[in-house]
Amino acid sequence: MADYLISGGTGYVPEDGLTAQQLFSIGDGLTCMCTNGTFACALCNCLNVYDFLILPGFIDFTSDEVDLTSALTRKITLKTPLISSPMDTVTESSMAIAMALMGGIGIIHHNCTAEFQANEVRKVKKFEQGFITDPVVMSPRHTVGDVFEAKIRHGFSGIPVTETGKMGSKLVGIVTSRDIDFLSEKDHDRPLEEVDTLLDLPSFYTLTLLGKLPIVNDSDELVAIIARTDLKKNRDYPLASKDSRKQLLCGAAIGTREDDKYRLDLLMQAGVDVVVLDSSQGNSVYQINMINYIKQKYPELQVVGGNVVTAAQAKNLIDAGVDALRVGMGCGSICITQEVMACGRPQGTSVYKVAEYARRFGVPVIADGGIQTVGHVVKALALGASTVMMGSLLAATTEAPGEYFFSDGVRLKKYRGMGSLDAMEKNNSQKRYFSEGDKVKVAQGVSGSVQDKGSIHKFVPYLIAGIQHGCQDIGAKSLSILRSMMYSGELKFEKRTMSAQMEGGVHGLHSYEKRLY
Ligand code: IMP
Repeated sequence: MADYLISGGTGYVPEDGLTAQQLFSIGDGLTCMCTNGTFACALCNCLNVYDFLILPGFIDFTSDEVDLTSALTRKITLKTPLISSPMDTVTESSMAIAMALMGGIGIIHHNCTAEFQANEVRKVKKFEQGFITDPVVMSPRHTVGDVFEAKIRHGFSGIPVTETGKMGSKLVGIVTSRDIDFLSEKDHDRPLEEVDTLLDLPSFYTLTLLGKLPIVNDSDELVAIIARTDLKKNRDYPLASKDSRKQLLCGAAIGTREDDKYRLDLLMQAGVDVVVLDSSQGNSVYQINMINYIKQKYPELQVVGGNVVTAAQAKNLIDAGVDALRVGMGCGSICITQEVMACGRPQGTSVYKVAEYARRFGVPVIADGGIQTVGHVVKALALGASTVMMGSLLAATTEAPGEYFFSDGVRLKKYRGMGSLDAMEKNNSQKRYFSEGDKVKVAQGVSGSVQDKGSIHKFVPYLIAGIQHGCQDIGAKSLSILRSMMYSGELKFEKRTMSAQMEGGVHGLHSYEKRLY
């Protein structure tokens, strides 16, 4: 092995670890049942999700100096390299707003009507810090029981009551927590209009204490609610992803069928910034035709193609004109594609191979699926990904769609694969798996649940700080430095055996509590 002299140092340091190129050429050279990554096993050298480590480098900066700016597409740059996946249990407007506020982006799922999806995009684009334009609203015919139920579901700090129970109708009162404190079980069936004083409009002072102010137009019709806490937060989002008009960035997923062209038109009218062509195997004539169509009709719109896991797949989509590639097949937490289709690739290999090819054409890569920890994010970025896309890691946060429920005393939210029978039966997601015309559905995902993680507003800052610490240990002061260290061979990796992986986790304790943030 060649030795080298550290400049100005005191002696020779033997070369240590493997460059990314060496790491990935080992797997290619070995013969075993799974050299193509079809089956993940501990016996061979193909890289199952991320079973390697990065060797530490030299630190001469603090972790909060690490710059996480990275390209989402050819023309869109994010300050935080995090994307929420277009899944119906992960990304609708609440998630997309929260992700964009923290410097990432959310991709609204398309397992719904085109109108619903476009409206979700519109909510993100129209989002003004502090203005809530779709609050829970009731009518005087709603009952006291409805108020108690809303309190359980949404928390409580005042529910506006309008004549029709909808926004845009005349404001007749606000039910405050003070009002319902004096009500009991026996009042549950009483309509609000029958309860004395319930529909009085509280004074401005009381509303200020509640932290919510109704905004009405000249005809006293309710147009928005302002939340004081949100107004305050305005100063707290220096990383927010915004377009040139200072609106939050928003993405949306579409398929490649004829009716997706109508969906695309509605999304464009809503102001979408980037569309993701949502397919588990993106190297298809359908996707290429769709890319051509979009590039001709909306040349400025950024288009993400995928999913791909090989350079050959990537080539076709790059030639067709994509602005970014989504990488991953069979690595998602809810995914059974590799099991059912015998097709896919371990994610570490996919990210490295596709990114290494795509960078020659200036096309950024999104590492999609299999991200279970902050360490996985760092590894994906170190292998050449510019951003990472997450499903399960962001599921069961407050901002994810769906209600919490309890099972065995644990607070959970549903999380399901878009190729699960559950999701395919709903609407549109079969298209991702080319199976909407099939008599027999072949599931490529499962449906399950994930434990409550609290709000994205706490979780994403933890992810950001974790990535910054990882880069600091590596000695990379920015993500672009991290990538150039990898391509120059300065960044060194080491594959982990099964026992090394066990050593790297918590071990030897009788019991422990794992609190992450
Ligand atoms: P996770 O972050 O490991 O949960 O993976 C999320 C990713 O899995 C998504 O972004 C999709 O690329 C992929 N995915 C979503 N639904 C399915 C499915 O039903 N089968 C296979 N992959 C899926």
